[in-house]
Amino acid sequence: MKKTTQLKQLGEFGLIERLRSKLNTHSPRIKKGIGDDSAVFSTHPNKLQLTSTDALIETIHFDLKTISPIQLGHKAIAVNISDIAAMGGTPYLALISLAFPSSTSTKFIDKLYSGFQTICDSNKIELVGGDTVASPKHLFINVCIVGEAFKDRVFYRTGAKPGDQIFVTGNLGDSAMGLKILREKIKKSGSIKHKNTLVKKHLEPIPRVKESSLLARSKLKITSMIDISDGLTQDLGHLSTENNLGANLYEDRLPASKALLNVCFQKKYNPIDWILQGGEDYELLFTIKPEDVKKLEKLFLKANVFVSHIGEITKSPKKIILITGNGSKVPLRVATGFNHFK
Ligand code: ADP
Ligand code: MG
Repeated sequence: MKKTTQLKQLGEFGLIERLRSKLNTHSPRIKKGIGDDSAVFSTHPNKLQLTSTDALIETIHFDLKTISPIQLGHKAIAVNISDIAAMGGTPYLALISLAFPSSTSTKFIDKLYSGFQTICDSNKIELVGGDTVASPKHLFINVCIVGEAFKDRVFYRTGAKPGDQIFVTGNLGDSAMGLKILREKIKKSGSIKHKNTLVKKHLEPIPRVKESSLLARSKLKITSMIDISDGLTQDLGHLSTENNLGANLYEDRLPASKALLNVCFQKKYNPIDWILQGGEDYELLFTIKPEDVKKLEKLFLKANVFVSHIGEITKSPKKIILITGNGSKVPLRVATGFNHFK
């Protein structure tokens, strides 16, 4: 049997050299990538720079039994891209810090980097550096990302006012159901095709860069935006209740995929729970002035991107109300998504 190389044979500098030989930068704005004490790059005069960082820890954020190294590389970058997209920005460079047990194989690292690189290439993001350290047991990945936005088109979490209309891209709840399928190996009932769709949504999320750019390049009066990582109810809380406002959501307008509805039907789950509380969909949730609703719908229709008009901001402090199909009003508990220390 062919013995694969482990990190303990290669060492930190051997690994960095191996990575450096593969990671070339292309953009003229990158003056120095991997190889010095800092990366050096130039910025644009009429843009604002955005940065964000997100860590993924083995056993908390991922399980190597259910995610491939390529998918893990993709996801680590995708969730960071989503944070930049959520502000109306476009990412252009990233740094990656890794902590590996010394028994990690170079084959694993190569696959992980192939995941990083594919998504970076398709989004024109340059990998300009990082850090590599040993970890006693678990894998740890931290990505720092830098992006930019037009000076007057950065969308914050604060800014919504009563009467503003709430929109969301894509479908909700798929990723959470995908995770459930992975964890519980729900195999016996329902279609394999639908389950694969949901699992893929969890393992390979697609950040909404195109949608964000459509909004940023338009003149639409966007008043707030966030990406849905902790679930619709909780993230809507960041746009409304934290600013002492409320929101009405219309149950029959909430977007759900065929795959989610199919699996919920098979398993006798109520889809609304997944739609409202499911995390990690990385869809964009935003508010817009009511007079711009028609223009927004036209713009997205023309670009062939899916967006749903799901509710409105109200002045009822800290109240998120679900208005059901028969018109009854159900108050929602905001803190029902994911929270690390609870
Ligand atoms: P320092 O001693 O200053 O921390 P390092 O030896 O850790 O420097 O890093 C040398 C170069 O390699 C730097 O440019 C750094 O950004 C890059 N680098 C280190 N680890 C990684 C990694 N995992 N991915 C990409 N670049 C890395
Ligand atoms: Mg270092």
